[in-house]
Amino acid sequence: MRTEGSKAFYIHTFGCQMNQADSGIITALLKQEGYLPAESEDDAGIILLNTCAVRENAVDRIEHYLQHLQGLKKRNKGLIVGVAGCVPQFQREEMFSASPAIDFLAGPDTYRTLPLLIEQARIGLKPATLDFNAAETYEGIDPFRQGSISAFVPVMRGCNNMCAFCVVPFTRGRERSHPFSSVIREVQQLVASGYREVTLLGQNVNSYNDPEEHRNFAALLDAVSLAAPMARIRFTTSHPKDISEALVRTIAERPNICNHIHLPVQSGSSEMLGRMNRGHTIEDYRQKIALIRSVIPGVALTTDIIAGFCGEQEQDHQATLELLSEVQFDSAFMFFYSERPGTLAARTLADDVPESVKKRRLQEIIDLQNSISNKLYQEAVGSVEEVLAESESRRSSQQLMGRTATNRIVVFERENYQEGDLVNVLITSATSATLIGKCEHSDVHRS
Ligand code: SF4
Repeated sequence: MRTEGSKAFYIHTFGCQMNQADSGIITALLKQEGYLPAESEDDAGIILLNTCAVRENAVDRIEHYLQHLQGLKKRNKGLIVGVAGCVPQFQREEMFSASPAIDFLAGPDTYRTLPLLIEQARIGLKPATLDFNAAETYEGIDPFRQGSISAFVPVMRGCNNMCAFCVVPFTRGRERSHPFSSVIREVQQLVASGYREVTLLGQNVNSYNDPEEHRNFAALLDAVSLAAPMARIRFTTSHPKDISEALVRTIAERPNICNHIHLPVQSGSSEMLGRMNRGHTIEDYRQKIALIRSVIPGVALTTDIIAGFCGEQEQDHQATLELLSEVQFDSAFMFFYSERPGTLAARTLADDVPESVKKRRLQEIIDLQNSISNKLYQEAVGSVEEVLAESESRRSSQQLMGRTATNRIVVFERENYQEGDLVNVLITSATSATLIGKCEHSDVHRS
């Protein structure tokens, strides 16, 4: 197979929803320049890895994929491989020595240079564009989106916090927000073209600050919900110290804003939160939870937990378990701490919890959270939930998969329903991660 000069590109996306949204921006930028998306890597002349540096295992997966691409390059002469996103931003030109497969590097603020990088790579250069650009929001780019039901809309990029474990401030740079008016316009266009759900995205959406009139995230969410009254509105991610009462009241007041908040806590111990530089105590967090629960009926809360962060003692771990028991999160992303080079923790704290202890604590956290999720999901059996059908279920074309407003996954018999329908589903059984049900026949909402 020879692909020299081919303009077909394939993007392999690692990591979070921000990276998925960025892959949509990259696709749009390349298409503007005459490049075409390929169905698979075998059909591509250019393979782009859009990478995530947040967790060690994501970086390991990227290294494995690069090994695979090295083999592919031997068979596929002229194949160009680029690495974009957080990993090259962080590792910089040193990344070239990690794999001979790499032809060029691009950071999260330099995707507009990709066509130039590809052309330079074709003549044998090893170019890299890794500058931060605090003004870059990719304004004016209409991102390519997978699917036609649910869309991500980035509203801000970067992060001004400095959580000790996190590489994001070093890979995505300072915060910058999209103009209020352009977010509203984008949401209106999505809804007009048939999307039924919009998720507003940012590393810390609560610190959204309209560059034109300095309106905050509560005002943006309110305006988005009014501009798209028939669409479900979600947002992620929220930092506990920045979630405001105004935001919580907006969620409660607008029926189309989903009653689910992802509120990463990371640890149940104020001592650990201090070491993590999170900017709040566990009592502050409890007060935010109490406010949210008192204002938003039926709200579902999810979180992130890190087990075994630097200096974590047994009592800190117990405090995390107590918090999980008390708050009863619907679900959680749970990891054990792995040091990321260059972070505040890597520079100032000893990674001193033995791996066996980290793993044991993580397992205790997972076991407890699974039992809580299982209990909460079993309690939903017998209820009727409004579900937005998103896709065929993985197991059967006779079933649809969708989510409740509280972000629970529901699998139900398709009958005469289709993707995009809002369906009332009677929940008949549950696992700790999925509700299973059948349709209540009275309601099909299509718009
Ligand atoms: S708020 Fe903290 S954890 Fe989240 S992206 Fe910013 S630095 Fe990272």
